Amino acid sequence: MEATLIQVPVERRHRWAAAAGAIALVCVVLAAWSHLTTQAAVLRPFIPIFATSVALTEGLTAFLLWTQYRACGRFYFAILASAYAFTTVAAAFHLAVYPGVFVTVSSRSDGSQTAIWIWLFWRGAFACLVTAALAARTRPPVQLAARRCFFGVVTIVGAIVLSAALCQWAIAERATLPDLVANAGAYRHLSVNPATLVVAALCFAALCIHISATRLRTLMDLWLAVALFAGLADVALTLGAGARYSVGWYAARIASMVSASALLGMLMYETSRTYSKLADAHRALKAFSVRDGLTGVFNRAHFDERYASELAQAMDRASALTILLVDVDHFKHFNDAFGHLAGDECLRRIARTLDAALTHRTEFVARYGGEEFVVVLPGCGAHAGLVTAERLRQAVVDLEMAAPTPGMPYVTISVGQASSDSGLDSRPADLLASADAALYRAKTLGRNRVEGEVSPGPKTAFSEPSAIYSS
Ligand code: GH3
Ligand code: MG
Ligand code: MG
Repeated sequence: MEATLIQVPVERRHRWAAAAGAIALVCVVLAAWSHLTTQAAVLRPFIPIFATSVALTEGLTAFLLWTQYRACGRFYFAILASAYAFTTVAAAFHLAVYPGVFVTVSSRSDGSQTAIWIWLFWRGAFACLVTAALAARTRPPVQLAARRCFFGVVTIVGAIVLSAALCQWAIAERATLPDLVANAGAYRHLSVNPATLVVAALCFAALCIHISATRLRTLMDLWLAVALFAGLADVALTLGAGARYSVGWYAARIASMVSASALLGMLMYETSRTYSKLADAHRALKAFSVRDGLTGVFNRAHFDERYASELAQAMDRASALTILLVDVDHFKHFNDAFGHLAGDECLRRIARTLDAALTHRTEFVARYGGEEFVVVLPGCGAHAGLVTAERLRQAVVDLEMAAPTPGMPYVTISVGQASSDSGLDSRPADLLASADAALYRAKTLGRNRVEGEVSPGPKTAFSEPSAIYSS
């Protein structure tokens, strides 16, 4: 899994999605182009809806970029987050001063001029900050958590304060700032004002620099390019619109929404994809962590955890539970004779055999340690437990793995059994101690046998026991 979003390479489907977004935008521009100055219906609720959605979208994008910065420490993300934080604040101010929303449309002191100045700051600052982020792209991550937090907060808070200060200045200086909008909302002065041309040039330069510097190699690069392109379309359409509530003006607002949401869409998609990848990796890791590396059956840690809970559940349900301690007989001889690699393979085969011989979903086998296994049989009483133990013992004999021990042609196991319904104290450790004592008995009584509280009697390993225990 890639560590940060600037390392997620662009795949063909990403290119298609981004191209579809850009083409849809171009279609909007082309469809509106011949009617840019045509006056459309004055939909007063449009601006509150537009500005609120843009502010929310940009705010969420800033937050998600901030979380990326916190996770990887790359200053690139902090500056990008600050670009979106800047535009969030600007969008909020834009809404607050827009004529006809919270202020009247009547006088020179309304937000008529201020709103367009704020919009210029918004577009210009976004282009500058995205380009500044590009310059910081190759900087190594800030490693120290405290420094990371400090730099991040300074950058974001700086952008918010700068945005608020510029908007506040535009409000305070509304009488002295050059008029960009003529009476009745006509944009006659806008396209000839140097400030507008500078902002348009900044947007165009930011897009060109971004594309040539990044070559749109990663997902971030690709969707940021879409955002910059949509921002440029917003500027071009607004300049060509002629007046508020014209076709061009509405099209510009749509482009602005695309610019605000392009990165958010990608971030949300990637975040949910990363989450599901993480969940898969976690599941795989968990499944891996409970297995014994050599034999593939459950490991000791899993046994310890699951055995205690299975026994507690059996106690609660007043049902029985049996455990079987299994030890390979004379295994040291096997290793000495055939080598440890052959010994490992022998353990693997025994583990597989024990596992395959279990019949219920709840039963399981774990490697207890060395050449010892433990089998847990929930819902199984003493008698059924002994029957199962005998089946396991026989299954190992049936493997017919040659043994080097005199008098024992095949590898065998000894099994100690203990059940919770035998009237013994049924604490996990006590039951294990009983099974261990039974196993010890099985060893001292000659091996290749099952011993438990209710002994089924000496086991003959093969049809001719004397042939095995001849020594
Ligand atoms: P007994 O019948 O009394 O159990 O005799 P034993 O030889 O099986 O018992 P002992 O405890 O003397 O020796 C156990 C051997 O198991 C020693 C050790 O080298 C071997 N062993 C433990 N773990 C592994 C393993 O992972 N791979 C291999 N190849 N051998 C192992
Ligand atoms: Mg042993
Ligand atoms: Mg042994």
